[in-house]
Amino acid sequence: MLDKVLIANRGEIALRILRACKELGIKTVAVHSKIDRELLHVRLADESICIGPNPSKDSYLNIPALISAAELTDTSAIHPGYGFLAENADFAEQVERSGFAFIGPKAETIRLMGDKVSAIKAMREANVPTVPGSNGPVPSDPEACMRIAREIGYPVIVKAAAGGGGRGMRVVHNEGSLLKSISITQSEAGSYFGDSTVYMEKFLTNPRHVEVQVLADGQGNAVHLYDRDCSLQRRHQKVLEEAPAPQLDPESRAQCLKSCVDACIKIGYRGAGTFEFLYEDGRFYFIEMNTRVQVEHPVTEMVTGIDIVKEQLRIASGLPLSITQADVKLNGHAVEARINAEDPKTFMPSPGKVNYFHAPGGMGVRVDSHLYSGYTVPPTYDSMIAKIICFANTREEALKRLEVALDETFVDGIKTNIDLQKDLVTDSSFIAGGVNIHYLEKKLGL
Ligand code: ADP
Repeated sequence: MLDKVLIANRGEIALRILRACKELGIKTVAVHSKIDRELLHVRLADESICIGPNPSKDSYLNIPALISAAELTDTSAIHPGYGFLAENADFAEQVERSGFAFIGPKAETIRLMGDKVSAIKAMREANVPTVPGSNGPVPSDPEACMRIAREIGYPVIVKAAAGGGGRGMRVVHNEGSLLKSISITQSEAGSYFGDSTVYMEKFLTNPRHVEVQVLADGQGNAVHLYDRDCSLQRRHQKVLEEAPAPQLDPESRAQCLKSCVDACIKIGYRGAGTFEFLYEDGRFYFIEMNTRVQVEHPVTEMVTGIDIVKEQLRIASGLPLSITQADVKLNGHAVEARINAEDPKTFMPSPGKVNYFHAPGGMGVRVDSHLYSGYTVPPTYDSMIAKIICFANTREEALKRLEVALDETFVDGIKTNIDLQKDLVTDSSFIAGGVNIHYLEKKLGL
């Protein structure tokens, strides 16, 4: 087992990783920017190091500072969490070259999945269901582009191969605007991501977002931990997630889950990962793979009883998976509400001092949060301050439990989206199950 882990992140996920390390008897190193000295995990870690000024680029994205901190503290491995450098192949490579274990896949896998064109190609080869599309970069010949789009059928979506965060994509409804849309997306992709490669795929009009959690040890073993539904999104940001995904076609689901496991084995995947799909009319369409732990991983932990972060630590220690597929039993239902420090109407961030924080509790209630009374939420980083996860035997009970838990939650001093979350868990369409990715924005009148 690893001896000491440096946590290259902040906030709730840093605390989540610290807890898993402690349970496994692994020593911890917290790194933080100047303003983050008061973070809960910094106080709880065995050692802590300030790695730079507040802007992320000078601290949490500062690769030399992170590697130096690992050297100074004689760390054995680095956990990147999510966001920041978690899907940066160069970082993973430098971590391993410097003699530390990177808690995640090999750099080459991150690179393969970071480029959507190569990711989709690898998935097609592994029989994972993909969206009908150009199967590669759009050609330079305009006639060929138009032919491909006609074959796919309008509407199509033009997407940047290096895209991320919902940027660098454009929907095209007819042939008249195809070529112009391709060239605009290419130049945007070039300036956002430094790579102007774009590809084309069928635009699905009313899909759900369904994703599959996997664990693989890079030694030929892989399992899936079933699915999650994260369709409630605003500006491509997930707001409320649940596991398992409700009302899926049982046959497509079983095929899809199996294809994800097969794909992990085929590409030699190592670590925790998520296959993201759009789901429409009973069919799955792969859109991308996230090669890291995700914000919504707790809902899967609650319904499988498997600690995903501990598994990541075991895998990075070189141990084979401790579970087989037969050990993964789905039990009950879990929902997660992301609590953000933001204005519930304008969604503008609302940083500041939290005078008082009261977390909900009771049977089946889990709170992953770095918040405490007296903590000041800095304006510099992501506005998520807590995740409230409720687990129960049935979906209905889990939603009711979340409603009660949200009512109990009290954050004084800053604005939060708690009222929006209460609105969502009591929304009749959401309660009925299976709303699509446009539902929340329509509800908000956006
Ligand atoms: P990113 O890496 O930027 O998050 P994704 O490929 O995951 O990009 O797509 C982000 C979102 O864009 C999806 O969750 C979905 O809402 C929308 N989207 C992407 N591809 C399609 C498609 N083929 N049809 C419909 N919507 C799509």
